[in-house]
Amino acid sequence: MASVRFSGVSKIYDNSVLALARFDLEVSDGEFLVLVGPSGCGKSTTLRVLAGLEVPTTGELFIGDRNVTRMKPQERDIAMVFQNYALYPHMSVFDNMAFSLRMRRMESSMINRNVMEAAEILGISPYMDRKPRELSGGQRQRVALGRAIVRHPSVFLFDEPLSNLDAKLRVQMRNELSQLHTKLGSTMIYVTHDQAEAMTLGDRIVVLKDGDIQQTDTPLELYDHPDNSFVAGFIGSPSMNFLEAELKRGTLEAGGFSIDASPFGRIPDGEYLFGIRPEDIQPEAGSPLYGAVEVVETLGNENIIYMRFAGRQFAVRCGPKVQSSPGERFHFRMDLHRSHLFNEDGIRIEKDD
Ligand code: ADP
Repeated sequence: MASVRFSGVSKIYDNSVLALARFDLEVSDGEFLVLVGPSGCGKSTTLRVLAGLEVPTTGELFIGDRNVTRMKPQERDIAMVFQNYALYPHMSVFDNMAFSLRMRRMESSMINRNVMEAAEILGISPYMDRKPRELSGGQRQRVALGRAIVRHPSVFLFDEPLSNLDAKLRVQMRNELSQLHTKLGSTMIYVTHDQAEAMTLGDRIVVLKDGDIQQTDTPLELYDHPDNSFVAGFIGSPSMNFLEAELKRGTLEAGGFSIDASPFGRIPDGEYLFGIRPEDIQPEAGSPLYGAVEVVETLGNENIIYMRFAGRQFAVRCGPKVQSSPGERFHFRMDLHRSHLFNEDGIRIEKDD
């Protein structure tokens, strides 16, 4: 087990794409850190640089107190699990898991012990003689995890390991990965574009955009106190509702509606982006605020109502008993103490309270 530190790491590929921009990050020993962001934001590059599969253009990398920047991948004591499993098709599950240990000339009784111990943790002991093609997607992913576990690495790296699985299995494996982290207590760095996966797995989450860290925080801090409108819009599903609004003497005006801006304290008049999450809007008969319902999603435990309000689509998370249909007027109120304002640069304005 070990901590990980990126110090001023940047990566410019040969085609002059800036994939990472002066990346500074510290991951504590035993932490589960998730890197999240849209496709192309530099998540895989971050892992590949740490694993030694790409050479950073600038900066240094540390695992524990070892400077690994110029070390070969196999010297770094890292195990990486990929989305496509990368299992050897002609080898049994046992041999797939034992492969890297044999390469290191580990004694065979030790190999046996490590492999069977990992198989036990992952619940794949009954399949040790099977070939990968004789396994389900979830079982294959467990073998790929097993191959990493047997090496007892200092750091585990996961590159979208669940994205080939169907939705139900993904949720189950997510849960198992959390338990695995608790059991092993190892440092884990996990890449995903799925914000729900990031929220449920991460001790801390790093939100990336265009190779730049937008915010590093615990899941709840990111959700409740996003630093900017990108993070606010990326974390949460359905995402935060946004409205361009003009602040004039304590009132936000947008699309013919007025919203009280007193929760934001004394801030200068001007253009702002107003944001509110779907669960912070409630139906209220007779309210001066209303939208035209466009879509109703009935999920059983809740209804999501999408309405057009002030020229934007707004999602509202309602209880299962709230009924509405497309074309109807939906009157609502907003919990303005839970709303957000972003300035013209997208930076969130701190409320006074
Ligand atoms: P993510 O994992 O977030 O989807 P990547 O780290 O794969 O993002 O890519 C970051 C940026 O670097 C993207 O613009 C991508 O096109 C570019 N990129 C990735 N790998 C290479 C490469 N080997 N050569 C050139 N450009 C690359």
